Amino acid sequence: MRSLRARLFVGFTALLAAALLVFGVIVWLVAREAMTNDLDDFLRSKATLLGRLVAPVRNRIEPWIEQEVQVQERHFMLQVFAADGSFAGKSSNLAQAIPLSDEARRSEHPAGNAVIETLHADGRAYRVATHPRRELWGDPVALYAQALIPLDSVHARERRLLAWLVGCGMVVLAAGGVAAWHLSRQWLRSVANLEEAARGLSSAELGLRRLFVPADDAELAALAASFNQLLDRLEGAHAAQQRFTADASHELRTPLTVLRGEIEVALRKPRTAEEYREVLVSNREEIERLSRLTENMLALAHVDVGEALAQRELVNVSELCSGVVAKLQALAEERRILLRHEDGSEGPLSVNGDRMALDRVMLNLIENALRYTPAGESVTVRVSQLRPWIEIEVIDTGGGISAEHLPHLFERFYRVDKARSRAHGGSGLGLSIVKALVEAHGGGVSVRSEVGKGSVFVVRLPEA
Ligand code: ADP
Repeated sequence: MRSLRARLFVGFTALLAAALLVFGVIVWLVAREAMTNDLDDFLRSKATLLGRLVAPVRNRIEPWIEQEVQVQERHFMLQVFAADGSFAGKSSNLAQAIPLSDEARRSEHPAGNAVIETLHADGRAYRVATHPRRELWGDPVALYAQALIPLDSVHARERRLLAWLVGCGMVVLAAGGVAAWHLSRQWLRSVANLEEAARGLSSAELGLRRLFVPADDAELAALAASFNQLLDRLEGAHAAQQRFTADASHELRTPLTVLRGEIEVALRKPRTAEEYREVLVSNREEIERLSRLTENMLALAHVDVGEALAQRELVNVSELCSGVVAKLQALAEERRILLRHEDGSEGPLSVNGDRMALDRVMLNLIENALRYTPAGESVTVRVSQLRPWIEIEVIDTGGGISAEHLPHLFERFYRVDKARSRAHGGSGLGLSIVKALVEAHGGGVSVRSEVGKGSVFVVRLPEA
């Protein structure tokens, strides 16, 4: 069944039917038992009364006795047998005598209690109570007095009860089914509303509209709220993507505009070979900037689609850091900055990750530190163990970053000083790549900085 409403309806109705069935069977059994007990008690009392009335008149059932016992009103019959078991008399409403059973004769209960049994005669079944009548307690039986009733009439009563039970059950079941059908529509109306509202949201409205959170329905409120949270995230992602596209186009346009300007100026009049050379060298710079930018964008795209960690292996972080430091030593010397590597750990510290990616993380961080630190200062790379993390700090004694920029530093294309960064060849993607790669490794990156004192970039990676 595809529809929740149909399932609710069928489930509820089936449950109701089962409950009614169990209830009906119990009522039926209890009522039948009670009816049988009542009938038996009634017949016993009538048989006992008959025994008392008939004894003085020697076994004949006369009209006044029938009246006394109220035979006509209650549709039962009477019989009397002599002590030897021979038939002695019957009430006028009994067509043919039913013989005394051995069972009734044998059970000569001294107290004279009536015996109950079911007998068959000329094709009909009878419920029979036999009272063995004695003159005095302990005397032999003087006569057998019987009250009996055809079971057909009893069965008819039972059938009437059954019909009532089944009829009432059907009515209740039908009413329950109709109620379930309508209620389920009412309950599911909020779901339908929610669905309609969600369908009505076009992508253009993502940022504007949210689903109504119903106050009177906890589950649906939770559903609507989490749907709205999803919309929030979607909106965030959508906005970030738009920002990225806009920033990227802008970043690409700048070097292209510079390139075109240089070429156009060069072409305005004939130039010497030396002049052309100069233009080409400058062009190459811009082209290098462009290819760095596209490379960085590509790197970010790789992380975004989850392809950043192509090869996972055990990477020794201390070794990796000292390798990057060694690689950048020449650049540091050129800038007259003291670049150091400190390792306070005992034994090798390893992470499970991609060597190229981690290399890039360290390269970006240390390059930044060298780039934004004036000559004569120092940059220190410190590796330490902080179970379950490995902490790598890149500490510089440069100019620092003012507090208002710190929260945005890891955003794509964010630069503190656009002109200065561009002069260094930066595009504002370096730190966002660092963040994306470190997070892909299950770690995190943070920054502390104070203007005039320097900055500390801290990378935390889970130790393997
Ligand atoms: P960029 O390509 O401009 O270097 P990044 O994402 O690597 O882009 O860095 C973003 C900005 O953060 C930089 O423009 C720079 O202003 C600032 N920054 C990064 N590292 C440092 C540092 N060690 N000291 C001072 N400023 C820094």
